[in-house]
Amino acid sequence: SNEPFTSYGSGSDERSKLIVAVAEMEKNAPYEVHPNVNGVDVPGEVTQTQENPFKHAIKLAAYSHASPELVAKAIQGALQAKKMWLKTSLHDRAAVFYRAAALLQGPYKYQMMAATMIGQGKNAYQADIDCVAESIDFLRFFPALAEGLYKNQPPINAANVWNRTEVRPLDGMVYAISPFNFTALAVNLVLAPLIVGNVVIWKPSPGAIYSSWLFHKIMIEAGLPAGVVQFFPGDAEEVTTQVFESRDLSALHFTGSTAVFRNLAAKIGAKMDFWTSYVRLVGETGGKNFHLLHLTANVRNAALKTIRASFEYQGQKCSACSRAYVPASLAKEFKSILVKETQKLTMGDSFTDFIGPVISRAAFTRVSKYIADAKADPEITLLAGGECDDSVGYYIRPTVIESKNPKSKFMVEEVFGPFLCIYVYEDSIYGPELYELIDTTTEYALSGAIFASDRAAIIEATEELRFSAGNFYINDQCTGAMPGQQPFGGSRGSGTNDKAGTAGLLTRFVSQRTIKENF
Ligand code: GLU
Repeated sequence: SNEPFTSYGSGSDERSKLIVAVAEMEKNAPYEVHPNVNGVDVPGEVTQTQENPFKHAIKLAAYSHASPELVAKAIQGALQAKKMWLKTSLHDRAAVFYRAAALLQGPYKYQMMAATMIGQGKNAYQADIDCVAESIDFLRFFPALAEGLYKNQPPINAANVWNRTEVRPLDGMVYAISPFNFTALAVNLVLAPLIVGNVVIWKPSPGAIYSSWLFHKIMIEAGLPAGVVQFFPGDAEEVTTQVFESRDLSALHFTGSTAVFRNLAAKIGAKMDFWTSYVRLVGETGGKNFHLLHLTANVRNAALKTIRASFEYQGQKCSACSRAYVPASLAKEFKSILVKETQKLTMGDSFTDFIGPVISRAAFTRVSKYIADAKADPEITLLAGGECDDSVGYYIRPTVIESKNPKSKFMVEEVFGPFLCIYVYEDSIYGPELYELIDTTTEYALSGAIFASDRAAIIEATEELRFSAGNFYINDQCTGAMPGQQPFGGSRGSGTNDKAGTAGLLTRFVSQRTIKENF
């Protein structure tokens, strides 16, 4: 079962402990983070910092880069460590995972919460569902899923023959690049290859250096042998260049932007004859996720779910809703609830407020630019928000705009911030014309939702929007997939749709050998 969420309600013990952990972490920051190769920290000159986006004057971590020689050494070390790791039984690998889950649930819980809140700009609730609950789920589910994979044997043996398949790891090493927005996604990116016997070169996001470092430390403390995961904060370009110099790259496991994934895929594709194996591409990338209201939608439910989907964690979930299609006959009521409730959202404090900062100055600049462009566009009406203030932290009020043009850039492009664009459609175009519009407006296909009470409308939208989203929700928000309940991932420009935390994902990191033996 899923790890239960913790409540940090006012007056609770949990809240008091978390307040202490956050204060303590802020007091002693910044923390130096260095590459960890073969189980040993390799200190270098710290040249970059991870900021606290709530208060950017506070730096949480200061980290150093790896030299090309160090990355080369790490690759050799990983390949060496793999000889032992692939022979380690699943039970022994699982023991490391379960021990790590226990450490995260127990002694490291508040430290991990603080690292995710301060470093990634999350409130307590958003941090808990991510760096504790979802991360523990991945740690506990992967061993069981792997066991299923190993059990899967050819069903038929002729007389005096024994057929079997050996589930091998890939022939080489896996390169994992993780994003800032979910600590759990870093966990997923590293653990999936690991549980089936691979070794991983791990490059975490600059926006999540400290929580990533902490997770690596937990894995080592849980018994992960040295060299099985080589940890590289620092510049992606440097690490990637060196990793791509190795013929032993067997898979890229990636969560991040569509542009970066395409670029990496192109680099891999440009030298196909170089690699020992066909390099597997496993990526979860961008989204421009939709909420569609049918004429029979429960408007209040749809409006409140749209707010949560668009503005929780400041719209920085790949799954966040950022375009909504509303029928003209419901538009007045929908907009009125949406605007009224959005304006009530409080901002700035990680314990008491719904809204926090966006992750970085770069994100602040990008989202502010979309807001400025929207304000200047005659086809756009600003309905809520639109204020940006980076004097203390990177704060942007949750912003709702309405576009008269269903294909304006605000309906098409991923903004990755607290920014929702709605389009009011004529009731008469509901049907093929509207489905076509939703399906072809963006290059993405990550998540989407239909709000309707009419059963036929639900069935029709589910069928007609089959390829528009990898996660489709009926009368629910398009975010918040739970491991083991709603396997998460999308296709088209949103990724290879291998679904985080699933047995299907594990199959991408194994290469089976069939053995036939005669007697
Ligand atoms: N799994 C998360 C959700 O369903 C989104 C993960 C992501 O942002 O990539 O909301």
